[in-house]
Amino acid sequence: MTLVIRNSTELQEKVAAWKRSGMLVGVVPTMGALHDGHLSLVKTARAQSDRVIVTIFVNPMQFNNTDDLAKYPRHEERDLALLEAAGVDVLFAPDVTEVYPDGFATTVSVSGVTAPMEGEHRPGHFDGMATVVAKLFGMTQAGSAFFGEKDWQQLQVVKRMVRDLNLPITVVGCPTIREEDGLAMSSRNVRLSAEERALAPELHRILQEVAAKLRAGQAVESALAEARAELAAKGFGAVDYLDFRSGESLAPLEAFAENGRLLVALSLGQVRMIDNIAV
Ligand code: AMP
Repeated sequence: MTLVIRNSTELQEKVAAWKRSGMLVGVVPTMGALHDGHLSLVKTARAQSDRVIVTIFVNPMQFNNTDDLAKYPRHEERDLALLEAAGVDVLFAPDVTEVYPDGFATTVSVSGVTAPMEGEHRPGHFDGMATVVAKLFGMTQAGSAFFGEKDWQQLQVVKRMVRDLNLPITVVGCPTIREEDGLAMSSRNVRLSAEERALAPELHRILQEVAAKLRAGQAVESALAEARAELAAKGFGAVDYLDFRSGESLAPLEAFAENGRLLVALSLGQVRMIDNIAV
């Protein structure tokens, strides 16, 4: 049975009791509309913890686009059934007022790794994300937290915050789960039309093509320029960024490097897609 908790005090009491009996507690923070990507994080959490909490909270503070927030898919009943089947102990699904009560006045703002890419194109997004993740860590009191590499920059921001604030939690990064055709699973994919959905996997294919070119020694600028041209020719919309960067510091790389990562954000129809791969 998955217990649904909406109140943070009740959650803290539950977790305190688990921890008194020596159990390891893992948390998987999500915004719901769960898919196999989320469920793979749950599986890893289950393998590494005695008790697993999944949080579902569509955090208004991290949306810089009101339309994206309004259209964000919400399916709590279906999500709960999936979590039951996955053996999750607690679904923590607080209301906005539980997370941000009257008088709420604190923002967690990480600098450095938040500056490029998503930071440039979604002003305020990482402040909202870091603030809510810090709160979820405090509310769940978990010893480990599981995040997807799908949101690579987010994973680096969370790791930075945990180190900088000495938060007593281990952050575990988990590989991106893809559809058979290569499209990275995302709750926003349901908003793609049939035609857009058919085109979407080309993004991953083109990323792999760039990676192969970089490994073969092609100059970064020319490989990225060719990919941008190919994306436009195929029918993708505006590219927010397509960058080759160090996986940890996120500093731009001029040439092939061992820890290099290709990261992209672009629009396809009404949907903003992000993806990244190791090179
Ligand atoms: P979200 O609900 O989109 O905020 O995602 C919640 C967590 O699931 C984040 O840590 C994401 O990185 C992770 N996640 C989302 N999609 C995938 C995926 N396709 N593969 C692996 N993890 C994912």
